[in-house]
This record gives sequence, structure tokens and C-alpha cells, in this order.
Amino acid sequence: MSIEKITQLKKWMDAAEIDWSYISDPSHIHYFTGFHSEPHERVLALFVPLNSPPFLFVPALEVEEAQKNTQDLAIIGYLDRENPWDIIVHEILKKTPQPKSFALEKNALTLDRYEALAQRLPDVTFSEDLTPLIQRMQLQKTPQEKAIMLEAGHWADVAFEIGFKMIHEGISEQEIVAEIEYQLKKQGVTSMSFDTIVLAGSNAASPHGEPGTNKIQKNELVLFDLGVIWKGYCSDATRTVSYHEPTDLQAKIHKIVLEAQIEATKAIKPGVKASAIDKIARDVISSYGYDAYFNHRLGHGIGTTVHEFPSIVEGNDLLIEEGMCFSIEPGIYIPNQVGVRIEDCIYVNKNGAENFTKTPKSLQIIN
Ligand code: MN
Ligand code: MN
Repeated sequence: MSIEKITQLKKWMDAAEIDWSYISDPSHIHYFTGFHSEPHERVLALFVPLNSPPFLFVPALEVEEAQKNTQDLAIIGYLDRENPWDIIVHEILKKTPQPKSFALEKNALTLDRYEALAQRLPDVTFSEDLTPLIQRMQLQKTPQEKAIMLEAGHWADVAFEIGFKMIHEGISEQEIVAEIEYQLKKQGVTSMSFDTIVLAGSNAASPHGEPGTNKIQKNELVLFDLGVIWKGYCSDATRTVSYHEPTDLQAKIHKIVLEAQIEATKAIKPGVKASAIDKIARDVISSYGYDAYFNHRLGHGIGTTVHEFPSIVEGNDLLIEEGMCFSIEPGIYIPNQVGVRIEDCIYVNKNGAENFTKTPKSLQIIN
């Protein structure tokens, strides 16, 4: 359990006159407690009363794992045949003073669960939303979080190496995906942060393309977008490589995207606006006349989930702060012709940006 994070939450509760917080998004539970679990349809929740210690409510089969991963946190388990809400309310009403106002995550809690709790606690108000507070807290990563994210980034580098080695004439996109995930899992990675993307030739010209039976041919670009979840934290990186010599257009597009990626990364430091970083990459691409083919934001925050705040996008004038982590991922996609994206996630330090992934970004030619 992170005492600092719980203390920060309680400070906010105190100021907002909230006496209980109910956290049920599994990635947020992990953020506060160090325990990660996907409960599916079962109830998993962290309860934080302002005036007494928090407790974690878990299915009975998770109690042991939860105890192993959280220090000094009370764990309460329930059996599948028991009604979780009766037990939760019993635990809540045991504490004094009696609760008056609950804060909850409005974008995570389903209506039936909210009603199950609210009907049993008729004198309690449930108006405050915890989601914006937690999102704000998660913007700045601690040194421990940064260290884990560097490890997650290293696994993305390992994945690129496996993928690049697999490229040969006639292999399909899906076969390379399978090999990358198989090799990583054999080495101890338990899950990818999203389905691995390998796209070749004109398939790469769709920014949201799906790998399939398409076979790789000579003189095509191959785009890899991938990441892992490591100790609860995500990585996300993209490289585009050339199988045999690239055409002039392919080489030119790659060079422009690379310039945009490097220039935007150089501009990162505390105090600049998120929108200004997006603009730098976009200006590079439009100076070559390809701005119409860069049709997504420059980047997104990353942490316990693969997409979180801050969004690096036009219109977001949020000031960048030390400790923020986000992607820089410009791309140019000319339909049916060529697609290039280059992506690294970075950590903002006092002076600039540190990359989580180290695989070279210049156009690699694979023979
Ligand atoms: Mn990304
Ligand atoms: Mn990506």
C-alpha cells in the first residue's frame, strides 16, 4: 500500500468534506495498494474512510494474493455464495462516526453496484467524483514508478528485436505477432498492454489497422506497435522498418516522421504547453506538405493504463511538469501507399525527456 498516495487522497477528502472513498477501477486499486487483479464479474473494491485505516474487499480466492502484495492493509474476503454488499455495509457501519458522504469513480462504477450500496446506506450522499482527482494524481510518476516503466520499456525493445529477426519473405503479419508474444511470455512477461500490431506495406497506411494473413514482400515497410504490462505498468512503442531497400517515397516519409518525432521530443521540458509539443511535430510534417496525412494527436499519457492523461493534442494547454509520462508518436498515412509511425514514451525530468525505449529510430533496413 502506498501511504503517500492514501494520505494525498485523504487530504482531498478532508477539503471536499467527504468521509469515505470507494475505489473499484482495478488499475486504480493497483495504484493505491500495489495489488493488481482483474475480478471479472466479482466485486473488488478499496474503501478509504477519512478517520480510520482503509480496507480492501476481495473475493475469498484472492485474499492470499492480496495479502502478499499489500503491506499493512486490512483485507476482507467474501465467498461466492455470500452477498458482497451485505458484508461491505456491515464493515462500513462498524466504524464510527457513521458515514455521511461517499466519493466514487463515476466512470468505473456500474449503476447496479452503485444502487446496491446506496440502497443499503439511505442516509449517505454519493455525489463527489474521484476520477478527476486520481487522474490528476497519476499525472506525475514517482521515482519507483519511473523505474518500473523503464523495465517495461526494455521489454518493448526485446519485442522489437524478436520481431525484426522474424521478418522474411512470405511470413504473415499474424505469424510475427504470435512469435513476439510467445517469446516474451516464455521470458516471463505475463501480458501485453494491447494486442501487438504488425502491419506490412499498404496495411500500415491505416493507423488502426489489424494484423492478418497479409504476407510480407520485399521493398515494403513493416510497422510494429507494441508494449507490455510489467509489474502493473505499461509500455507502448512503435518502429517502422524496411524489408530490403525502401522506395524513395518510403524513405522520404520515414525521414519526415523521424524529424517530427525528434523535434517534438527535444521541445519537452517542464513549463511548456502540451499543445505546443503537438504543434512542433505537426509543423514539421506540414512543412513537407503531408499534414493531411497525420490525422491523430501526437501523444497520450501512460502509466498503469496504456492511455491516460495528459493528452498531447491541439487545444490542451496543460503545462508539462516533471514526472509526467507520455508518448510522442507522429505518423504519416497515405492510403493504399505507405504508412509510417515512430513512437517512444518518455519521462519528463527537470531538463527534458528521457525515453523508456532505446531501439534506434532511424530507418532500419532488414535483408
Ligand atoms: Mn501510443
Ligand atoms: Mn502505440
